[in-house]
Amino acid sequence: MAFTLEEFQDLMRRTFGERDRRRGLAESIAWLTEEVGELAQAVRKGDQADQLHELGDVLAWLASLAEQLGLSLESAAGRYAGGCPNCAAIPCRCPLEFIG
Ligand SMILES: [Zn+2]
Repeated sequence: MAFTLEEFQDLMRRTFGERDRRRGLAESIAWLTEEVGELAQAVRKGDQADQLHELGDVLAWLASLAEQLGLSLESAAGRYAGGCPNCAAIPCRCPLEFIG
């Protein structure tokens, strides 16, 4: 099954939107941060099934946060539609120290 970001955000809204609104922004941020930590741990341990699982959870919480902010993940991704937002090249030609 393939989703656009917009379809995914809509699915997350229909699945968890009511609960997420009741939970509120601060707690959603805390969950997103926790899931990013679990993703970091899965990357360190090297198990691809765990990494895929955690990527999905991070994406779900990111969609929840976007929804609560009244923003669109699809629009957020648009920032990169033309390649690097800084140098506008694909691939990026910024000096390495600039992008960390
Ligand atoms: Zn660049």
